[in-house]
Amino acid sequence: MCGIVGYVGERQACPVIIKGLHRLEYRGYDSAGVAVMHPGGGMDVFKCKGKVSDLEHFLEGKDSAGTIGIGHTRWATHGVPNDANAHPHLSRSGKLALIHNGIIENFRVLRDALRTHGFTFRSSTDSEVLVNLIEYVRESEKCSLEEAVRVALKQVVGAYAIAVIEEGNTSRIIAARKSSPMAIGLGDGEYFLSSDAASIIDYTQDFVYLNDEELAVIEKGKPLHIMNLDGKDTPVSIQKLNLSISQLEKGGFDHFMLKEIHEQPETLEDCIRGRVIPETLEIVLSGVIENKEKFLAARRIIFVACGTSWHAALIGEHLIENMCRIPVEVEYASEFRYRNPVIFPDDIVIAVSQSGETADTLAAVELARKAGAFVYGICNVVGSSIARSTDSGTYIHVGPEIGVASTKAFTGQVTVMTMLALLVGRLRGTVEEGYYHRVAQALLELPATMREALKTADQVAALAKTFTYAHNFIYLGRGYNYPTALEGALKLKEISYIHAEGLPAAEMKHGSIALIDAEMPTVAIATLDRTYEKTLSNIEEIKSRGGKIIAVVSKGDDLVRHCADYCIEVPSTVECLMPLVSIVPLQLLAYYIATYKGRNVDQPRNLAKSVTVE
Ligand code: GLU
Repeated sequence: MCGIVGYVGERQACPVIIKGLHRLEYRGYDSAGVAVMHPGGGMDVFKCKGKVSDLEHFLEGKDSAGTIGIGHTRWATHGVPNDANAHPHLSRSGKLALIHNGIIENFRVLRDALRTHGFTFRSSTDSEVLVNLIEYVRESEKCSLEEAVRVALKQVVGAYAIAVIEEGNTSRIIAARKSSPMAIGLGDGEYFLSSDAASIIDYTQDFVYLNDEELAVIEKGKPLHIMNLDGKDTPVSIQKLNLSISQLEKGGFDHFMLKEIHEQPETLEDCIRGRVIPETLEIVLSGVIENKEKFLAARRIIFVACGTSWHAALIGEHLIENMCRIPVEVEYASEFRYRNPVIFPDDIVIAVSQSGETADTLAAVELARKAGAFVYGICNVVGSSIARSTDSGTYIHVGPEIGVASTKAFTGQVTVMTMLALLVGRLRGTVEEGYYHRVAQALLELPATMREALKTADQVAALAKTFTYAHNFIYLGRGYNYPTALEGALKLKEISYIHAEGLPAAEMKHGSIALIDAEMPTVAIATLDRTYEKTLSNIEEIKSRGGKIIAVVSKGDDLVRHCADYCIEVPSTVECLMPLVSIVPLQLLAYYIATYKGRNVDQPRNLAKSVTVE
């Protein structure tokens, strides 16, 4: 969930690590720490509750010199965020320092066993158990550090990305991973280590990504050595990451989230480029084309996803059922994996995840593969675990998303699903040609349409001020825009901490309408589509019960104006792409309400960017 950065080489390790941790801070940020080895071989750990900037203050005036070190930002799973629970953790003797992302599920059993050998623990974390287990193996077997790490990890149940250094050894770091990402950056006679390669692109673009249950011996001036947990050497494959530093910075915006909302015209252009051919309107998704037979024979499509990706998948359900006439189910990955689901070999399971590291979605992928289904991934992060463990897939290519509340990844996911549905529909002969052309053309025009939708920003900002008082919100939508309502409500919850509920508009009268009074504002998506009239009636029902209404309407609409208190006009496009347009003012509304309330929108409380634990 959180961040790991390491360095070994000729530079001072601490500044390299702190810079990397700053870049990763959006992922988990309740405490931070670093362990450095001084030139003579003595080791120091500096760690504290709070943000990376707190760690920087803590380091002021202290001797953190050294050319090897490991650093961490934590998103607590075991034990409250405090100084003692912050990483790195030292072993009993103080000779080993370890940082860990993930969860050691069997830490209690391991901890009890270590206690019988006289070990005591300073923190409540599962991670401290692991560093002591490594020390125990190292001492009892009298083996090398890498061997001790390997043997200890064989006893671990759970998820981990770890890095370990040992006092006295100023040239090597041992790293390993299982179900939590870890990349090793290659420099000139130096190595960088990170749970997210993007955090160290200031130094290198060449990376080796560890696979599950692999362990790396990273030694200054020596070739990288990777083995699996059985001690067998595995090949080292170097990949280039083509990212620019500007993609990781705020580019003049106050927050990453605002930047990411505003860059959606460009990110969608990147997402569509080369995939919708302007001259012929042909759709080229190699993941689908190379597996045409699978899509032709599919009995059913099952989406597995969490959070915002799950909302995108609900739109995917409409798109695919509408254009491909294949039945679709949308599953929470966390429920799917524990439900003994019925999966047929001719099912296609589509896993959707921005980071490609979402633990529950990854587990659902494994389950689907075991059941013999064809598994397709829709991810943003190139080389991520889901991208590597699926049979095929499509990247959304929207660039790094740093704001914790997902915005451009959502619109990228829906755009990929639209292209997929159009292409599969055409292959299966279930989509009418005229409709295909209209949607493909609208996809090409999408960047311009999004630019138009973003013009609502000033109006939404003003409106947001009026509503900072609210403690609750209802979001309503129908058809393609019902998932948009869910997503709009989620944005508000995530960053403003205002309770919000998304509902299919017609469901209101089956219960939730009881909540309506002057204190309960409703955001209604009432754009011109086949459910427009019905939504209008739903708005009237709320109005007549004294509710305040903000409506998202199509440009030029006059009717809704009579019953809504505020109307935000968005441009029109084909119905199936309207969620991309109507979500824009909802993203902005959440953003502005949260900023007026003084919330930290890029790092909202309790959340982490990529949920790599269950
Ligand atoms: N489970 C560890 C802890 O609670 C690591 C959490 C993380 O991934 O940051 O300290």
